[in-house]
Amino acid sequence: MTAACRRAEEVAPARGFFINNEWRPVAGGLTIPVVAPAEGVVFAEISAGGAGEVAQAVAAARHAFERGEWSRLSATERGRLLSRLGQLILDNFEELAALEARDCGKPMKTARADIQAAARYFEYYGGAADKVHGEQIPFMRGYYVTGEREPLGVTGHIIPWNYPAQMIGRTLGPALAMGNATVLKPAEDACMTPLRIAELAAEAGFPPGAMNVVPGFGHEAGAALSEHPGIDFIAFTGSPRVGVMIQTAAARNHIGCVLELGGKSPQIVFEDADLDAALPVIVGAIIQNAGQTCSAGARVLVQRTVWDKLMPMIAERFAGLRAGLPTDDPDLGPIISARQKESVEGFIRRAREEGVPVIAEGARQDSAPAEGFYVAPTVFGPVPRDNSLALDEVFGPVLAAIPFDDEEDAIELANGTDYGLIAGVWTRDTARAFRVSRRVRAGQVYINAYGAGGGIELPFGGTRKSGHGREKGFEALYEFSALKTLVIKHD
Ligand code: NAD
Repeated sequence: MTAACRRAEEVAPARGFFINNEWRPVAGGLTIPVVAPAEGVVFAEISAGGAGEVAQAVAAARHAFERGEWSRLSATERGRLLSRLGQLILDNFEELAALEARDCGKPMKTARADIQAAARYFEYYGGAADKVHGEQIPFMRGYYVTGEREPLGVTGHIIPWNYPAQMIGRTLGPALAMGNATVLKPAEDACMTPLRIAELAAEAGFPPGAMNVVPGFGHEAGAALSEHPGIDFIAFTGSPRVGVMIQTAAARNHIGCVLELGGKSPQIVFEDADLDAALPVIVGAIIQNAGQTCSAGARVLVQRTVWDKLMPMIAERFAGLRAGLPTDDPDLGPIISARQKESVEGFIRRAREEGVPVIAEGARQDSAPAEGFYVAPTVFGPVPRDNSLALDEVFGPVLAAIPFDDEEDAIELANGTDYGLIAGVWTRDTARAFRVSRRVRAGQVYINAYGAGGGIELPFGGTRKSGHGREKGFEALYEFSALKTLVIKHD
């Protein structure tokens, strides 16, 4: 796919991998072209790390953790460094936003929000680093017992391409705050901002080995990291398919893992909902990042009595949506790669062939280059409940609308997929909102709101095919640490 892409006039050269605060070349000099999805051109190259580079990064992290300067820092000092990195991200705001926009094809306003969030992650976890403390546990007479939180050691992190800047903050922020030394494998499709942020971490004063980054392919660098016997924990965000491999590798190494996988999250609209308030949120939650968000609101479940009122409102919005270049202020950008575009278009084509009605579709802006990986945002409905569009993650701007009869039916429908990440409930009836939110299988439920991807302070994670464990908020600090019980006999 990438081989077919034209090269931009200037292509930023690969810099190797980032270990012990410096760039090191990858053995063999293998590189991966990086494509700007909005233009369909290669604009940079990254190095393709493998098992050797991962081994070096893990060894550097181990040294920093056991004997290096990282292990000597107090929690307050670690927190200060994280906050300083957050500030450096803000100091380099426009550069990072432009890089993220080009690498991912995101509209500039979205890229700016993402960089803001990346800075906020480091600021949040910087502030939290010295706020996690143990507690005294009542025990037998003559004993003093405390439970203390300690770091896990060397933590491995594998992140996807949909929110590279946010993801580095989300996964490394809490791990570093708790005193772990880290090795990150960013996604080969988009990793320019994580590489730059690692450099900023060195500038902020992070000691060597605390944050190491090995770019490369998943089946090479990613697999090598997840299987490395020198890591003590692994955090993965990506597809359920790879999530299974990560968990299997973690089991072989007898270590823990947190998995943030996909979703098919529902927005449930009852007949008494404020439809005008719900409308922009429903549309925004599926076109955000061109639908490439694990918590995208990919299903809208509509009570049959308001179907004829709400669907024309959604149709009108969708028909007006325009995909385009990041700098042209579009409603949405392209899909990340030719491969993912093909996958999303496959869902659309199969649904059409199966006769699922198209309610509306948007278009691309006139200025959007033909080589870009654009997909028309499309809303289908009523989607049969056993159709792939109702059950499977598309990871594109495709909304599946499905009618329901009553509360019981809505809950059954909401819980009718293998996923369980987030959900939205739209109703003016408070009692119903509570009843439904308690029974919907999801890590987060929003009432008269929906927060795809947002909320650094809010614990986030799923169940079953959406993964397990929690990131964001204080929960992540517990995820990246272990409880040690200290028992002291004093008489
Ligand atoms: P993926 O799971 O293949 O990639 C995610 C990360 O895992 C990348 O860094 C990749 O290099 C790495 N990886 C791939 N194979 C690996 C392996 N064998 N061992 C270790 N690491 C490996 O996701 P994708 O192919 O980029 O996208 C496919 C689908 O995954 C999407 O259509 C979407 O459904 C889902 N996805 C979900 C998220 C999310 O945020 N939950 C993000 C991206 C993709």
